Amino acid sequence: MAADCIFCKIIAGEIPADVVAESEHTIAFRDINPKAPVHVLVVPKVHEPDAAALASAEPAIAAELLAQTRVVASQEGYEDYNLVFNTGAEAGQTVFHAHVHVLAGVDVSKLFLA
Ligand code: 5GP
Ligand code: ZN
Repeated sequence: MAADCIFCKIIAGEIPADVVAESEHTIAFRDINPKAPVHVLVVPKVHEPDAAALASAEPAIAAELLAQTRVVASQEGYEDYNLVFNTGAEAGQTVFHAHVHVLAGVDVSKLFLA
């Protein structure tokens, strides 16, 4: 647990969150400011500053995190979904605890990749 990390506090149960799924090493909860009909964050319970750091330090947990994205999307009723990993402040990362945004119900790729 990192001091002053909002996601560590959610994982510890110190701050409430709308938890939709949990696995041994991850937790998934709805984003407080949703940008799509489904907008869930899948977060490793271990504190690493971003997804690439997680993959280097804990590759098995990074794989578990990726696998959980399908569990979450399918639980929400979607087969197709987008994943977003904001990495670094200049790329929009605001919470420096690794997480992936699971977005479904709108094709986010059309917004910036098409
Ligand atoms: P980032 O911009 O770092 O990739 O994404 C951080 C996300 O965390 C943002 O979409 C933001 O809305 C969400 N967020 C920030 N604080 C909280 C919180 O306390 N609870 C929940 N559920 N989401 C949060
Ligand atoms: Zn943390």
